[in-house]
Amino acid sequence: MRAFKLSLFALASAGLSAAVSVGSSITTDLGTFTLTKGAACACAKLSRSFGGVISPNGANYTLQAADRYWDVRADLSPACIFLPSTPKQVAEAVSIFESCNAQFAVRGGGHMNYPGSNNIDGGVLMPLEKLNKVKVNADTVEVGPGLTWWDVVVALEPYDRVVIGGRMKTIGVPGLTLIGGFHYFNNKYGYAMDNAVSYDVVLGNGTQVTANQTSHPDLFWALKGGANNYGIVTKFTLKTYDMPKVSTTIQVFNESEIPKFLDAVCEAAKLDDENPIAAGMVATVQYNVTTKVIDASLLGVQEGEWESVLETPKQMFRVMFSMKSMKPDAEVLYSIYKAWKEGVDTIADIQGLYPTFVTNVASAPAARVAKTNGIGNVWGLEAEPLLIWQFSTGWDLAQDDLRVEAWSRQLAEHLHSINVEKGIASEFIYMGDAGEWQDPFAGFPTENVARMRSIRANYDPLGVFSRLNWGGFKLGL
Ligand SMILES: Cc1cc2nc3c(=O)[nH]c(=O)nc-3n(C[C@H](O)[C@H](O)[C@H](O)COP(=O)(O)OP(=O)(O)OC[C@H]3O[C@@H](n4cnc5c(N)ncnc54)[C@H](O)[C@@H]3O)c2cc1C
Repeated sequence: MRAFKLSLFALASAGLSAAVSVGSSITTDLGTFTLTKGAACACAKLSRSFGGVISPNGANYTLQAADRYWDVRADLSPACIFLPSTPKQVAEAVSIFESCNAQFAVRGGGHMNYPGSNNIDGGVLMPLEKLNKVKVNADTVEVGPGLTWWDVVVALEPYDRVVIGGRMKTIGVPGLTLIGGFHYFNNKYGYAMDNAVSYDVVLGNGTQVTANQTSHPDLFWALKGGANNYGIVTKFTLKTYDMPKVSTTIQVFNESEIPKFLDAVCEAAKLDDENPIAAGMVATVQYNVTTKVIDASLLGVQEGEWESVLETPKQMFRVMFSMKSMKPDAEVLYSIYKAWKEGVDTIADIQGLYPTFVTNVASAPAARVAKTNGIGNVWGLEAEPLLIWQFSTGWDLAQDDLRVEAWSRQLAEHLHSINVEKGIASEFIYMGDAGEWQDPFAGFPTENVARMRSIRANYDPLGVFSRLNWGGFKLGL
């Protein structure tokens, strides 16, 4: 009873009306939620311990609960928002969530694009943006989870060094590193996760550990692609590479050249030099359903500077991803593209439709890095070329959410099933390109998933990162 009274007091001091009580319905600009006992308890305790907790009627609520997200669909209505400034505060907050049985969400750069992955209705939102320290060492950089890849690039620039991170400026360091990380230079240095040499982690019981090759090596392995299933990372130590010079290219092709364009993407996936030059690309086909104009663009980087165009503006539209992977086959890839284009025509009436067909390559040398570095990663990919194809579909209205998802999912599954029959399908799913309806863990080797589960049982026996922090790609029971 005492705790409940204190909760109300502290909620009031955090900006909520004293009339608000557990079970009350609270309406914000972003939606309506019911104040649960767990959230009331956690918001009150956080407010008492640290102050500065943002309530639904507080300044910066919309900034934190909506504007910081890339996808409009990710905007939700948290009961309160707590921005920790130190790893110790993160640890204390996790202890509070556990003791209050409060549901919570964690945000890094806010790019994971589906509701609940990084925001929450009626629970506590914990953005990590104040954990923004960066320290450049001789051949590593220590990075707080509040930073974007652009921040890291800027910090490294005076030293002519690069890091294997995101390809766009504003993506967050934590989300990308924890799910794998496609960068231009994967073919030489592996994925972002393969370049993390140490993680400082807050576990579900509020303790802080460092995971690296000698300290908690099992957790170290599991964090390489294991996403947000193990704890909250409060510092990443990443390898850096000497790279004084880089060149870039942007090329645009018209529709008649798309077969050749897709053929070139397949050839790029198959490249397997023993000593590759670090190089990569983003290859995308855009379809304007109003003008019926289609074009393909290639953004290539080979040891170079980041262009100003690489911003990823937030809150532009609602977005649905669907992805599958396959052995590179230009003819099949072209047939997938054609089926996608015809499919787009069937939903052309959707307001604000912004369809793109994106390809990514996962080359043999990129997979070989984890095979030979003595650590590995949870993907367990063979050193074989893979091609990832993705539908990235933007639209305007919430009423079309289910329609777009159904369209995108059914088309992707249908085309994948044809590839299964042809014997060229891969079950590898990349969390960064996948829709919420997809299960990336089903594509990992079963022994890796079993090992991931057993590591999770050791490090999070209370299930804090599955029960209370349930958003994102979760390993399942
Ligand atoms: C426009 C765009 C471009 C992209 N380009 C690339 C690309 O080039 N390469 C690539 O690999 N991927 C790319 N992605 C995918 C991207 O890597 C993922 O969306 C990634 O999750 C983004 O990281 P974030 O920190 O911004 O995300 P967030 O949405 O903040 O976080 C993602 C998930 O990680 C959790 N999380 C965040 N911080 C922590 C932490 N410190 N500890 C534990 N869990 C945490 C969150 O709770 C959430 O579930 C792109 C996505 C978009 C939208």
